[in-house]
Amino acid sequence: MLAVFTDLDNCLLDHDTYEFAPALPAVARLRAAGAAIVCTTSKTRAEVEYWLSRIGLSHPSIVENGGGVVLEDGRVEALGRPRAEITPALRQAARDAGARVRCFADMEAAEIAARCNMGLERARLAAQREFSEPFVLETPDREQALREALARRGLRLTRGGRFHHAFAHEGKHAGVAWLCRRWRQQHPALVTIGIGDAPNDEGFLALVDHPVRLRPPDTGPGAWNRHVLELLERLGR
Ligand SMILES: [Mg+2]
Repeated sequence: MLAVFTDLDNCLLDHDTYEFAPALPAVARLRAAGAAIVCTTSKTRAEVEYWLSRIGLSHPSIVENGGGVVLEDGRVEALGRPRAEITPALRQAARDAGARVRCFADMEAAEIAARCNMGLERARLAAQREFSEPFVLETPDREQALREALARRGLRLTRGGRFHHAFAHEGKHAGVAWLCRRWRQQHPALVTIGIGDAPNDEGFLALVDHPVRLRPPDTGPGAWNRHVLELLERLGR
């Protein structure tokens, strides 16, 4: 069995246009080889389902940076704490730290759309967080105090491209490790490929047999296609 764990933004999807067509030849080759293609992303389950249906892929997927693994049948294995616990803990931590935060939970879809430079439909999908709370830190000088206040509540703080994020889980690599353990019970000879472009992909790239690191300007679906085809050639698949 072959499993391909791939980041979406700037990998399978173009960073700006979200185009994926240049990757389709390699996607077809992987499917013909019986490979599982696992989206491994910071996106929500709702966003991933939008892209799966367009690209013609299916679950399992690793969503919200490893907060959950969506299984083949659509059930979700939670690896993090539910957002319903995270958002109030974030607000308390912000009060403790003297920080001002504007959470996704406080924003209408139109505000998320404007901040993310995306359409309203996609903003609604992005808003459906289950395992994390993105927020704007309006008092950047309180970041370290907020980080410590979150840690006292068992939460982590990361800084993404547009937002800070509070969550309780370990990261994408925990989702990859979880799925690999599950698959290896049935397929001890499982071979794994990982494709990513950013620091938050490094954890899972370190776990796979064949990591592919896309680096500027060689990123996006065209690069994804070429690297996957070359790797399959090398592996004799
Ligand atoms: Mg990326």
